[in-house]
Amino acid sequence: MRAAATPPWADVRDPAGAGRVADRHRASLDGDTTADVVVVGAGATGLWTAYYLLEADPAIDVLVVDASTVGEGASSRTTGWCAARFPVATETLASRYGAAAARELRAALRDTVVEVGGVTAAEEIACDFAYGGHLVLARTPAQSARLAEAVASARRWDDEVEPLDADEAGTHLRAAGTRTAAWTPDSARVQPRALATGLARVVEQRGVRVAERTRVLRVSPRAVVTDQGTVRCRHVVHATGATPPGVPGTGRAGAATDAVAIATEPLPAPAWHELGLAHGTTFSVASRRAVHGHRSADDRLVLTARAGAPAPSGAHARLRAALVDLFPSLATRAVTHAWRWPLDVARDGYASVGVDPAAGLAWTHGHAEDGTALANLAGRTLADLLTGTSSALTRLPWVGHRSPAWPPGPAATAMLTAAAWRAAWSDRTEQPASRPRTSRG
Ligand SMILES: Cc1cc2nc3c(=O)[nH]c(=O)nc-3n(C[C@H](O)[C@H](O)[C@H](O)COP(=O)(O)OP(=O)(O)OC[C@H]3O[C@@H](n4cnc5c(N)ncnc54)[C@H](O)[C@@H]3O)c2cc1C
Repeated sequence: MRAAATPPWADVRDPAGAGRVADRHRASLDGDTTADVVVVGAGATGLWTAYYLLEADPAIDVLVVDASTVGEGASSRTTGWCAARFPVATETLASRYGAAAARELRAALRDTVVEVGGVTAAEEIACDFAYGGHLVLARTPAQSARLAEAVASARRWDDEVEPLDADEAGTHLRAAGTRTAAWTPDSARVQPRALATGLARVVEQRGVRVAERTRVLRVSPRAVVTDQGTVRCRHVVHATGATPPGVPGTGRAGAATDAVAIATEPLPAPAWHELGLAHGTTFSVASRRAVHGHRSADDRLVLTARAGAPAPSGAHARLRAALVDLFPSLATRAVTHAWRWPLDVARDGYASVGVDPAAGLAWTHGHAEDGTALANLAGRTLADLLTGTSSALTRLPWVGHRSPAWPPGPAATAMLTAAAWRAAWSDRTEQPASRPRTSRG
């Protein structure tokens, strides 16, 4: 076995996104103009919104502007699960919005995974979309207890989920120390940057204008001021995710916590045989500070975790320790890529979507680690809201939800960092003394 190469712990981007996805250069906005709808942000959310607006009415004049280039934000840095997940627990949703509404949202989320797969196939977007379900691993008694509760809860909301013992879990993935697990079919693997660039190509073919290197400086009712000109419009869609520093006029002073990610070198077939992880199957650990992973289309193991605001300097090294703790056979494999980016986290944990008709401003926020599927659901919902279509989507409980504002300045960062440390501390205390404590927070 050769020794692991020294990992380049710089912001070396998602290998599949950076290396394989070629995209064309697009011009900046060329002075003042008009549009029916201006979408601010050419990530997955903005592009799905443009896609469904055109599906609803091909005559709508949509302009997408991005301060950088298509998919260069979080959408090129996700670790690739497209799952029927929502950032707050279904019980929490049900207690606030009622059981029926919570059940409707669960169904819509499951449908969303199917929708993403269906559209990418129909539009011939080569983004490595592969169904394979999601496996949650429990490696401590406390995690097993939590997972058993989660399984019981999921079944109450009609989710298909199968509890597994350690041997059964091994048919999906062989991770050290697995005690119990749960498997759900409602998840897929996708290469999100390829999805974003593919979506951009599709919407441009239908007449959407996409202007790159065009920074929005201010949004006001019926107008968007950019550094390349002003656009008069009927509606503005605020789809900038967690990208700092936020856009004046959108009424949102965001706070974000970092997620960090690593990818190994491509692993040979015998290594995958030992791990047993199929393409398309994503996984996570039922720890408080959840670790998620999948097998990339080019056979790397990709792992991510929430890491605080901003991520501390040792966050990537700790994630690598977690990788080896889960898969000791990978101890000598090189980690060739490591990156970080902010997550869009609402103060109450909710994701939300909505339109303020008086200002013509549409928004979606708080997608956290679940933004790949939520971008699609938000895009479909915003298209219905903006075209005045009353639908099952516009009645979902995240529509119109208003999260409380984060406190200004460093207080929000301190709260998010404290939450990350609390989660890491709980994980340490839950770990049996007999297991080496390798994944310190
Ligand atoms: C490390 C990491 C791993 C993740 N893994 C997963 C995962 O496995 N599955 C999952 O579902 N989610 C995951 N997420 C979350 C997911 O990446 C995001 O929720 C999603 O990509 C957000 O897409 P978006 O279009 O809303 O935002 P972005 O992709 O960030 O797009 C926002 C765009 O707005 C542009 N912009 C910002 N400000 C301005 C301005 N003033 N003017 C013009 N344009 C502007 C930016 O340039 C950017 O292109 C992960 C996130 C991180 C950081």
